[in-house]
Amino acid sequence: MSSLVPEMYGSLVFNDKVMRDKLPKDIYKALKKTIDKNTHLEIEVANAVALAMKAWAVENGATHFTHWFQPLTGTTAEKHDSFITPMGNGEVIMDFSGKELIKGEPDASSFPSGGLRATFEARGYTAWDPTSPAFIKDGTLYIPTAFCSYSGEALDKKTPLLRSMEALNKEAVKMIQLLGNTEVESITTTVGPEQEYFLIDKEDFKKRMDLIFTGRTLLGAKPPKGQEMEDHYFGTLKPRVADFMHELDEELWKLGIPAKTKHNEVAPCQHELAPVFDTTNVAVDHNQLTMDVMRKVADKHGYVCLLHEKPFEGINGSGKHNNWSMVTNTGDNLLEPGKTPAENIQFLIFLVAVIKAVDEYADLMRLSVASAGNDHRLGANEAPPAIISIFLGDELTAVIDAIEKDELLAKMQKVKMETGATVLPHFFKDTTDRNRTSPFAFTGNKFEFRSLGSSLSVAGPNIVLNTAVAEALSQFYDELKDVPKADFDKAVHELLKKNIIEHKRVIFNGNGYTDEWVDEAAKRGLYNYKTTPDVLPVFVEDKNIKLFTKHGIFTTSEIDSRYEIQIENYCKVLHIEAKTLADMVAHQFLPALATSTEKLIDTASKKKCISDKISIKAETAVIEKMSEQYETIYELLETLKADTAKAEAMEDSIELAKFYQTTIIDDMDKIRCVADKAEEYIPAEYMPYPTYADMLFYV
Ligand code: ADP
Ligand code: MG
Repeated sequence: MSSLVPEMYGSLVFNDKVMRDKLPKDIYKALKKTIDKNTHLEIEVANAVALAMKAWAVENGATHFTHWFQPLTGTTAEKHDSFITPMGNGEVIMDFSGKELIKGEPDASSFPSGGLRATFEARGYTAWDPTSPAFIKDGTLYIPTAFCSYSGEALDKKTPLLRSMEALNKEAVKMIQLLGNTEVESITTTVGPEQEYFLIDKEDFKKRMDLIFTGRTLLGAKPPKGQEMEDHYFGTLKPRVADFMHELDEELWKLGIPAKTKHNEVAPCQHELAPVFDTTNVAVDHNQLTMDVMRKVADKHGYVCLLHEKPFEGINGSGKHNNWSMVTNTGDNLLEPGKTPAENIQFLIFLVAVIKAVDEYADLMRLSVASAGNDHRLGANEAPPAIISIFLGDELTAVIDAIEKDELLAKMQKVKMETGATVLPHFFKDTTDRNRTSPFAFTGNKFEFRSLGSSLSVAGPNIVLNTAVAEALSQFYDELKDVPKADFDKAVHELLKKNIIEHKRVIFNGNGYTDEWVDEAAKRGLYNYKTTPDVLPVFVEDKNIKLFTKHGIFTTSEIDSRYEIQIENYCKVLHIEAKTLADMVAHQFLPALATSTEKLIDTASKKKCISDKISIKAETAVIEKMSEQYETIYELLETLKADTAKAEAMEDSIELAKFYQTTIIDDMDKIRCVADKAEEYIPAEYMPYPTYADMLFYV
């Protein structure tokens, strides 16, 4: 099989090789220019590309095409059109024009727009993103597109992501050229997202209303064995899981997704997949596609793939690590510390720009990973704390300290102003600690943002990261641009020193899971937004609106609309959870508890019938206990229902989100607490749905 992998890889992708083969030379050149340099694409070129794309797609079994986009629901959307055009004589031809390739007009009225698109203007536009390759899936040609309203406002995640990549490119190129690296023409960001997920049996899934409606279990006592033995992490793959992973790899490879690493994770039934990194917008598209293919392949193997951040209480949830760096068109990774002086100063500038960016916009970074699901993980000692800080490792911290104490300057002067020479040791990836508790860690030649939840689109965090770093670089550039050559090295040093002093509070190499860190972070004045409703309002703060509008990422109305949508989403998730829990308790759990009680009463009375001398002490005690639990759960259920009704009567707003976060979550927790204790008295045969032990240990 392995000898076939190179042929299989990318076989369903309209990639560079296919384009070179199938397109006339001048068309190929024009398209490449659009892709690499972001130039406008002429309609003649689009027509020729469409023709070749269709021919290739039909050859590979496609009958339909779709503009594939990423609305603000967080998933992807598609509407399929066939290539068929009737000829009027009862025959059809397969047709596809440049216009159809470039632009689509799906009815957009059912996608969230946060008020951006008046309902009478239902039209939305999709526009081809030629920088992310088209591919074939299930007999359809998928064309990655951006999605916007009639008046041009972005209604998706791709548009602002592309804008943020452009902003970073612009500022980073200016900076690097100022440093004398004039052959660099463009800089892109790279991302490698590691994806965690659970696999459970489809038959189990189907019996649990909570998993079906909310993606997580709302009830369920912990099994006698959890993850404490740590025997699952990197453990041998069970044959059925190995089969699944094998097919998953193949499906991803065909789509040109470089799936590389796979292993078992900490929790039982939990696994991880990591691809080789790619340009950010391609990596984002690929991660969306990966989640999709995971679900599909799981289904084929009798599994359901759970991408929720916290499917099981008391068992580690799932996250996504966003590995991020910047690379020049000449192939240099700007976060590679390297050996040579010129590279070193470049590295230091970009490193300090990232530190400044993360310190100043930690609130936005926290916002970018906020969701109802992720609230269960962040700060719960299984994932990084809600406080955003940077892990640099000992070596880099020493360099930063040296700059602050002017030791670097002294060395620079000794080597006749050859900026930074010999100061930086050459780093090896392995020397950077694997501190798993840090939300944002330097890992040798990239930063790893670890606060993301498993189901999140990685677009959001990268939009923030790219924009915040672009802003830091733009400020650095402004400070350095008019400095005379003779003073340049000194000015660079002063700039680094000033920024290190100003922003080193965000650097923390210790254990982020401790209470001491929470106190220390508060002393340092770092943000600590514990929940989604706490952090949502930072989106509309002046400082952040200024950042996004200055770099052309969002207009103010785009920010307002996204803010509304995030609030709405949060409330919807909690509303569905509350309703589902109420339903399960009323229709499944309480009846099961009643049947169990009845059964025991029956046993006890039968014993009494035989002889008065047989003790029914144990039965009586359990019957009393169960009756008590029944009553408590019933009362708590009434409270949950009343509070849910209250929420339904409230206006959608941040107040409502806070009401869900406090009152409703509290109501649900209380029910769960009693019900999970009561579960131990319910005989297996009366359990209305699979237990944790059933789901987690028999896959
Ligand atoms: P870990 O130790 O975190 O499990 P790895 O060292 O295997 O992981 O790398 C994790 C991810 O980082 C991979 O997806 C890899 O492609 C990605 N990665 C490596 N270099 C870069 C880079 N320069 N930019 C972005 N991502 C990168
Ligand atoms: Mg990692």
